[in-house]
Formats: sequence, C-alpha cells, structure tokens
Amino acid sequence: MEKRTLFSRSEMLQMNSERLKERGVKIEEIAEVAYAQQSKWTDVISRQDCIDSVEKILSLRDTFHILQLGAEIDRLTETGEIKGPIRDVLNADLGLFGIDELFGLELAGIYGTIGKTNFGDIDVNKPEVIERLNTAGKGDKKECHTFMDDIVGAIAAAASTRVAQIINETEARKDPRYKEIKLDFDV
Ligand code: MG
Repeated sequence: MEKRTLFSRSEMLQMNSERLKERGVKIEEIAEVAYAQQSKWTDVISRQDCIDSVEKILSLRDTFHILQLGAEIDRLTETGEIKGPIRDVLNADLGLFGIDELFGLELAGIYGTIGKTNFGDIDVNKPEVIERLNTAGKGDKKECHTFMDDIVGAIAAAASTRVAQIINETEARKDPRYKEIKLDFDV
C-alpha cells in the first residue's frame, strides 16, 4: 500500500474523531469542558462555538501528530506491547512522568500562552471527561489513558482559548481603523 505522511484537514479531523471515539471520548464532551471554562468570563459564547473550535483544532496537523501518537502509546501500553521499565511507569500513570503533560502543554498553546494556563486549570481540577479518563486509567480494568486525559484536556483548553481569541478579534474589528488582511491559511 502507498505510504502517506500528509493528509488533508478533513481527513485529519475524521481520523482524530475516530481515534477519540475508539478511546471512548466524544467531541461534545470536550466542547463542554471548553464551554464551562470560558463561559465564566463571557456570556457571548455558545456550546456550538465550542464544538466548532474543537473540530477546527482536530483538523490541525500538530494536533493530528500529538493525538495519534499519544493514543497509540496508550493502546500499546494496554496490550502490553510497550516493553521495558517505561511500561510500568505508563501503566501506573506516574505523577512525576510528565511527558503526557508536555504533549498537553504543546497542544494547549496553539492559540496563545493563555491556553497553557487554561490547560493547567483543567489538569488540576479535572472536569467531567478528564476525571473519567483519569479514574479509568488508574483502575483495575487495564485501561491506559495516561496520554489521552492530557490530550483531551489540552484540546478543551485550546478550544476555550480560540473562542476567547475570536471574541477579542470581533471586538477589535469594531474599531473603524481596523484593516483586514487576507490570510492564506484557515486557522
Ligand atoms: Mg496524563
């Protein structure tokens, strides 16, 4: 079969959505975490804005690489195919491991530094789907969500940040001095 390394935005969105589904995560519940976080600061926000942002983020190449790799590490840990001392570290979801948070921080910052603090909030307070993944990964069912809980939290943080960026951009455009520039890429 032909080897491929580059995929279209719609293919990456589809493959990321499928991967999340395989790992028991719905797009709507990631959007709900983003909504809960950002609606504290503004009432100009809807759940649909958050769903749109989550889908946009899932179509990005960096997200694709982080999510696909993280999900695969979790899956291989569950099947026992990861060898050596690191297998037990991953299975235990060791608090001091930190590479899963590194994936999360990298992803959370795509719409600005504030995304990283938003990720920190989600990482510490573990709302809804994050808590569910974290608890399931530490249970006796041999599930591993060491990477996925941080990836899902980071997507929610990035989505919440993207909505804030859009609200601020909309506000900036009200200034009569605002000049729009045409961008080649839809981010
Ligand atoms: Mg983790």
